[in-house]
Amino acid sequence: MCHIHPDGDAIGSLLAFGWLLAALPDPPTVVLACADSVPPALQFLPGADGITAAPPAGPWDAIVALDASDPARLGDIYRAVLDSPASEQPDVLVIDHHITNPGFGALNYVDPAAAATAQLVLRLADALAVPIRDEAALCLMTGLVTDTLAFRTSNVDAAVLAAASRLADHGVSIAAIVQRTLSDQPAAILRLWGLALSELRVEDGVVWSVVTRAMRAAAGVTGEEDGKLVSQLINAAEARAAVLFNEQADGTVEVDLRARPGYDIAQVALSLGGGGHPQAAGCTLPGGWAEARARVLPLVRAAVEVARPR
Ligand code: 5GP
Ligand code: MN
Repeated sequence: MCHIHPDGDAIGSLLAFGWLLAALPDPPTVVLACADSVPPALQFLPGADGITAAPPAGPWDAIVALDASDPARLGDIYRAVLDSPASEQPDVLVIDHHITNPGFGALNYVDPAAAATAQLVLRLADALAVPIRDEAALCLMTGLVTDTLAFRTSNVDAAVLAAASRLADHGVSIAAIVQRTLSDQPAAILRLWGLALSELRVEDGVVWSVVTRAMRAAAGVTGEEDGKLVSQLINAAEARAAVLFNEQADGTVEVDLRARPGYDIAQVALSLGGGGHPQAAGCTLPGGWAEARARVLPLVRAAVEVARPR
């Protein structure tokens, strides 16, 4: 299983782990599951059409959670499988790189120094002496590319580049992955950005904006996605941190947080019931976005109060 609202690292790691298990000498029966559907931009990944949002009740020996910082991030399918009478207490194995992960499995392979969960899956393949197939290489590279914004985040080091170099040996095109997963946006999303960017505010180093249901309707966006607008907000030269409030259809507000290197908003997200990384985190809050703003902005402002050298 991977996390709800799945991104390239969630789906890429999930699929690659499936390819890894299939290559074992005595392959187990595997179901790949995600509580939300695979976003269109990730449906090109080999095996994506086999991911289910309704995994059978079991019996299962184990649940493997990939790229999920806590059990709630797995959605309702996690409890459904874990508590299913057909499964006698499946073991939970957690593979993740979020610093806020409490280690909710019986076995936890959690490394916050990794730039992507995909990096950990590749390490596991090496440890198990499983050869990487071309399909797995494409999935893993997609995880690396999306979580590092094409190798531009501050956690990109020699180990990340060495992993990418190995995957590139399989003929994987980084440019094609960047185009499909990071650059391409439906025109309606760009229109939505226009509406949200016109509301942008800068307050004490915190750049923030909001995507409302009304904006989404005006822009012609049907889903809840916003094209990761917060990644644009943090590009404001004035920004130490960026916040995007995104009104969800169910009345909650998804809060996306970003911080420049030297600042840490992971703990802000954790204190609000969410999680993430020092530079990229998030949480989901009940109530309207004005209520969310009143809760979140003071915490973010406090987290970036002391200026760090650029
Ligand atoms: P993004 O803004 O790209 O969706 O997420 C950035 C990071 O924050 C990701 O690592 C993601 O797992 C985490 N994150 C985003 N939203 C939530 C949330 O509602 N709850 C938790 N626990 N983590 C979140
Ligand atoms: Mn990840």
